[in-house]
Amino acid sequence: MTTRTRHTTDRWVRFDPAGCAHSSIYVAAAPLAEDAYKRAVPKLADRRREANQGWTLERLTKQQWRERAMPCFKGTCSHPTGLPTRAAAGTTSLTGSTKEATVGHA
Ligand SMILES: [Zn+2]
Repeated sequence: MTTRTRHTTDRWVRFDPAGCAHSSIYVAAAPLAEDAYKRAVPKLADRRREANQGWTLERLTKQQWRERAMPCFKGTCSHPTGLPTRAAAGTTSLTGSTKEATVGHA
């Protein structure tokens, strides 16, 4: 009766330890989390390293994907990532100025 799972628009999304999305793949193309992770990170050594670092793979619905993953892929999210472009964009200077203000006040 319900054979709708075939047409799911859910996606597997790979998150770094900070919760920033790095890759996504349709569940329809990779039914198992394992399949999806292997496609995103083909080398076993890399997958092991990421597992140790706390990377995760989550299944998101279309709506969840829009909320949690899209900003990351567009580069507009506020996650502290290792990407140099984003790190320089404001997070560091913001914390810096807050600290200075607190110190100066005390
Ligand atoms: Zn992000």
